[in-house]
Amino acid sequence: MRVDKYAIASTMREVAAGTVGRRRVRAICERSLSVLVGTTWTDEEIVVHFSPKFLALLDSTESLRLVMQHELCHVLTAPSANMTLPRFASPAVTATFVGYLDLFRERLAHEEFLRRFAGDVPRFHEWHARIFDPANSFGPLDPAGPDIRYHLFSQIFSVYYDAVFFELTGDDIFARWCQESNIMTLHRALGFAMEDMASIRQLSGNYAMQLELMQSSCRLFLHLDPFRLLAGEMILVRSIDELTNVDARLLAQWQGRSLACSHPG
Ligand SMILES: [Zn+2]
Repeated sequence: MRVDKYAIASTMREVAAGTVGRRRVRAICERSLSVLVGTTWTDEEIVVHFSPKFLALLDSTESLRLVMQHELCHVLTAPSANMTLPRFASPAVTATFVGYLDLFRERLAHEEFLRRFAGDVPRFHEWHARIFDPANSFGPLDPAGPDIRYHLFSQIFSVYYDAVFFELTGDDIFARWCQESNIMTLHRALGFAMEDMASIRQLSGNYAMQLELMQSSCRLFLHLDPFRLLAGEMILVRSIDELTNVDARLLAQWQGRSLACSHPG
């Protein structure tokens, strides 16, 4: 199948017809894109950014339409693709926070898809399962690099980004992969993020506030030791009890998980 940016733009227009009005739709292919597809939008236009790898995964007009429906759900569930974050000292920390907050945006888009395109869920599910490849998301890390922990967290969050869909639809594909790989801790930790996201939706209906609460959840999550997580151990690198820069309700949720701590002091 030949898929070019015109096919993507016209499919998006078709999918968006009557829902996002008269906004212009453009598609851009970007080699540097870290995800397969991403979408930005204004009142005037919707721009779908896709990676060259994305083209290889599209094996039919049907899969293109399903993916564009998903992208439309991002437009429908967030006021903008932009994210406000504190100024972190390191780009690796910023990337890690973006990766974690994106889990929430992906969840919102999937929930919208499940509601709006219920009839298409089995086909989208089938496509999603076909391209899901967690092992390939873990690449080599520079052991001497100062931000190695954050780089590893970013890899973990990119796996979670795809796994969120299966957690929402009750498919155990990710749990089974973790089990076979002897790292059920990775699945358990995704459960923490999923629980936090559910709590955040209860705590606030305001999107900006929800992302703010996701920052708290991220700060707490980053207290897990990512190396030991991937070795099948669930350990905090230091105590979370004295944390003051996180939401107290989310902190209490994490304390309730009774996690062991390597440096309790
Ligand atoms: Zn998405």
